[in-house]
Amino acid sequence: MSAKIEVKQLRKSYGSNEVLKGLDLTVQDNEVVVMIGPSGSGKSTFLRTLNKLEEPTSGQIVVDGHDLNDPKVNMNKVREKIGMVFQHFNLFNNLTVGENVMLSPVQLGKVNKQEAEFLARGLLKEVGLEDKFDAKPQSLSGGQKQRVAIARTLAMKPDMILFDEPTSALDPEMVGDVLEVMRNLAKEGMTMIVVTHEMGFAKEVADRVIFMADGHIMEEGKPEEIFNNPQNPRTKEFLNKVL
Ligand code: ADP
Ligand code: MG
Repeated sequence: MSAKIEVKQLRKSYGSNEVLKGLDLTVQDNEVVVMIGPSGSGKSTFLRTLNKLEEPTSGQIVVDGHDLNDPKVNMNKVREKIGMVFQHFNLFNNLTVGENVMLSPVQLGKVNKQEAEFLARGLLKEVGLEDKFDAKPQSLSGGQKQRVAIARTLAMKPDMILFDEPTSALDPEMVGDVLEVMRNLAKEGMTMIVVTHEMGFAKEVADRVIFMADGHIMEEGKPEEIFNNPQNPRTKEFLNKVL
């Protein structure tokens, strides 16, 4: 195994509000890490520092061997390798589903249009939407939009994907299809960090569960350890509320 992400003593403050208080985390190639914890504990901020959507206040982040503190590191290249899927899908409504998936690889000159279309059709099939290539995003359900967003992320051939509450904005009946796509990605060996409140998914798919609160990693372990035998009182309290 080799480390995809290595985080050491990561801190992030907004003004006097310290949101990340010295996080250490290593994520291995092919590992699925599920991050849980109360609202406001810094989960989103943490994910956003990993590709420098947020600048850390201090600490070290190494992605695929690239130390993000090194001014010579090409952040755009690093970002291409880190897919991100958010709660809100941010599809372009003036483009078709297929065009949304093709856009970045074509704009960045990774592939020509023909190759991009072939790739996009294959990815839409993978997420169960092969018949939606020509549809406009407005005609899709939330769950379908999120699956398009995942296909769009995959079109960049990322080495790892960070998911920030990908099913939180969906109607309950849409959640399963999105989790199914994520489950398949995990099976195929995608390296993933998933912030979610879907504890069933965490139990089934996570290699490791991290409980975060107040800007600290309070506890981490295998799903059965965290869910069946949590050690930290904060973890126990949180799980009592959500399970
Ligand atoms: P979580 O994702 O666990 O709910 P967040 O990372 O979104 O937590 O937020 C952690 C804390 O950081 C919150 O107190 C939030 O108000 C604060 N915060 C997040 N983003 C910003 C920002 N851009 N400016 C100021 N404060 C922020
Ligand atoms: Mg969040």
